[in-house]
Amino acid sequence: MGNLVAIVGRPNVGKSTLFNRLTKTRQAIVNEQAGTTRDRQYGKSEWQGKEFSVVDTGGWVVNSDDIFEEEIRKQVVLAMEEADVILFVVDVMNGVTDLDMDVADILRRSKTPVIVVANKTDNNNLQYNAAEFYSLGLGDPYCVSALSGSGTGDLLDLVLSKFRKEAGELIDEDIPRFAVVGRPNAGKSSIVNAFIGEERNIVTEIAGTTRDSIYTRYDKFGFDFYLVDTAGIRKKNKVNEDLEYYSVIRSIRAIENSDVCILMLDATRGIEGQDLNIVSLVQRNQKGLVVVVNKWDLVEDKSVKVMKFFEDAVRKRLAPFTDFPIIFASALTKQRIFKVLEAAKDVFQARMTRIPTARLNEALLPVIEAYPPPSNKGKYIKIKYITQLPNTQIPSFVFFANLPQYVKEPYKRFLENQIRQRWKLSGTPVNIFIRQK
Ligand code: GDP
Ligand code: GDP
Repeated sequence: MGNLVAIVGRPNVGKSTLFNRLTKTRQAIVNEQAGTTRDRQYGKSEWQGKEFSVVDTGGWVVNSDDIFEEEIRKQVVLAMEEADVILFVVDVMNGVTDLDMDVADILRRSKTPVIVVANKTDNNNLQYNAAEFYSLGLGDPYCVSALSGSGTGDLLDLVLSKFRKEAGELIDEDIPRFAVVGRPNAGKSSIVNAFIGEERNIVTEIAGTTRDSIYTRYDKFGFDFYLVDTAGIRKKNKVNEDLEYYSVIRSIRAIENSDVCILMLDATRGIEGQDLNIVSLVQRNQKGLVVVVNKWDLVEDKSVKVMKFFEDAVRKRLAPFTDFPIIFASALTKQRIFKVLEAAKDVFQARMTRIPTARLNEALLPVIEAYPPPSNKGKYIKIKYITQLPNTQIPSFVFFANLPQYVKEPYKRFLENQIRQRWKLSGTPVNIFIRQK
């Protein structure tokens, strides 16, 4: 299970600089795959072979000029609820401020481990200044310079040592894991209740491994899957519900622990920025996607034409990834909610698809012959052989070519679409690699 590190602190102490420092290498790779730079506040980090997520909670504040104490307080509370380790960043050049003290007052009650990061320690003399951070009552301050990177290696060692020990996973890996995600009020709890109903006996809660229970087993009506909890689903914290970015942070863990994400949209509101952030998280974690246009009961004109209009609009907003099922449903009337589960099941299957090498070559080589990659600098590019990589999270295909560097994005997309159409891979991301033969 993924660990989550949250960065908190008042403005200008260097949170986003530290975030960039911790996520740098990984970020580049991830961005290349998903083609997005939207959510710079969320990233993956890797240290000593261990991968974990980092969130700059301050980065989610839409207008940082308007930042006020209450907002920071809420971020800190959220980090305490959601993260495995909190990095409390302070500024060695400025020393302790009132706002630092306020944050520390909250953090001292935290059950989540807190590390005081004395940032901007650009030289040894500044280290002596850090001593004043003992007054925060949160243990040893850790001196780093996010700008130069000095001290960040030791900091990461410390972060790793604070992660909870992973208990053996109690869940059955062959059974799909679905997460219901979306903005507040999209209908997440309603649809989960519609699935589970009052019949609490049909579900088994699995005791959490590194966190409180996160998987709920559902085994009825021919379905067998785990519902992966978004923290918000069961214990709604009304204080935070009004702030949309909380829904994104809350979704991170559920998305990371799922195979397929069911994104709930509110038909009466359409797609907004937070939906795009969530979709981006789904893609960057290479999870399957089903989009539910919920509250369909509230839409008066339910004609095919209107549905088509909705569908096109959704796909256009979520481009370049457009090949996923869209279900028009109502959690309230339960219209088509089982279709949602069917779709999620199909996407799970698509994710697991294994195509024999012979099939791939039989089907695709003639198409490639008929529509070869455009020649580059007078050089003729030939794809000779295709195979699917074994043991990957999502279907991943390698095309062996004489001059792989000349096969460009549009042609890769063409190849991907050929595979998608032929083998019905709707809802799952697909990797296409071109390698030297
Ligand atoms: P945030 O508001 O907490 O996210 O802070 P930023 O990351 O935006 O940094 C605020 C300012 O502090 C920027 O001008 C940074 O370049 C600067 N800064 C961040 N880390 C360091 C550091 O380690 N040393 C120095 N000298 N400046 C830093
Ligand atoms: P969550 O914040 O995403 O968990 O959303 P909730 O499940 O709490 O739903 C928010 C509000 O929308 C509640 O008042 C629900 O009764 C209402 N709601 C949810 N799904 C539907 C639906 O399909 N149709 C209608 N008319 N209302 C719905």
